[in-house]
Amino acid sequence: MTIFEKIAAHEIPARIVCETEDFLAFHDVQPQAPVHILIVPKRALPRIGEAQPGDADLLGRMLLAAPGIAAAAGVAETGYRLVINNGRDAGESVPHLHIHLLGGRSLQWPPG
Ligand code: AMP
Repeated sequence: MTIFEKIAAHEIPARIVCETEDFLAFHDVQPQAPVHILIVPKRALPRIGEAQPGDADLLGRMLLAAPGIAAAAGVAETGYRLVINNGRDAGESVPHLHIHLLGGRSLQWPPG
């Protein structure tokens, strides 16, 4: 099991801000911005590069949840960024798909 599957199963603690039947959102343990939340499917899907057409509904619902999660975190008006790291060069460190939601400061572009 990945660490995110264990969080989804409530086997290890996390600061959960939103939970549905098939995904949840929780604060990142090493925040890179004042708001840094991860949106994570409950079932194991390693990365976006391995997603299948059958994952479209789940991925869509995760993306559509982001504005509400951002609003609850207080960054809907100031802005936020959604990031998915896929593979080594992108800095993927947990092989379980997750969407980073970052906000609360001015973010650089292009990203490093
Ligand atoms: P990535 O580098 O895109 O794979 O992102 C993985 C993210 O998971 C990093 O930002 C880590 O800080 C975060 N992370 C790792 N373990 C935990 C945990 N137990 N609870 C919350 N966030 C975690």
